[in-house]
Amino acid sequence: MYTCQDCGIEANHHISMEKGGVAHYCLDCFNVYLCKRMGLDIALYDHPKTISVEGQRFRVMKEVLDNGVAYYAYKGKPTALSSVSYLGPFTMNGKEAMEELKYRIVAFLKHDTLQEDELSEIGVIGIVDDPDAWDEIAFIIDGKRYSSEDMMDFFSSVRGVNMMYIMQPRIPEPGSKWAAPESILPKKE
Ligand SMILES: [Zn+2]
Repeated sequence: MYTCQDCGIEANHHISMEKGGVAHYCLDCFNVYLCKRMGLDIALYDHPKTISVEGQRFRVMKEVLDNGVAYYAYKGKPTALSSVSYLGPFTMNGKEAMEELKYRIVAFLKHDTLQEDELSEIGVIGIVDDPDAWDEIAFIIDGKRYSSEDMMDFFSSVRGVNMMYIMQPRIPEPGSKWAAPESILPKKE
């Protein structure tokens, strides 16, 4: 296990530096590092740790990407997090982004996706890597994990519909590792 070179907690971002060696960061410190590299002020993207939507509380985290800041609202156990995301442009502050995130919660996450084992008209299905499954894939719905066979059952029961979907970045899996060479990271021109 590597620890974050800035704060000392477990690191999950590993960057092969151009000058040699590997830099280790936790997600929060990686966000700070990447903002600095791109000439952005990370304080602009501050957000509350939780937000409440119509009486339900959701945790919030962010991930700085090369094309904006992804904010995730999530709930559930670490092994089966349900999340929605909003990718804010670098010009938008964290407070404004929370309003966008709340719209997405109301539209997608507030109600269960499965109602008595039937897919609702609108919902969220997380698609994740599962090394323990024969096909190495699992699906997360309403804070529970399902296999591909389960998914086929859910789809079978709604034969005759079109499923129109939006693909969005999903909250990083707790404990997942991220590694890249410094040369591919975005940088202020
Ligand atoms: Zn750190």
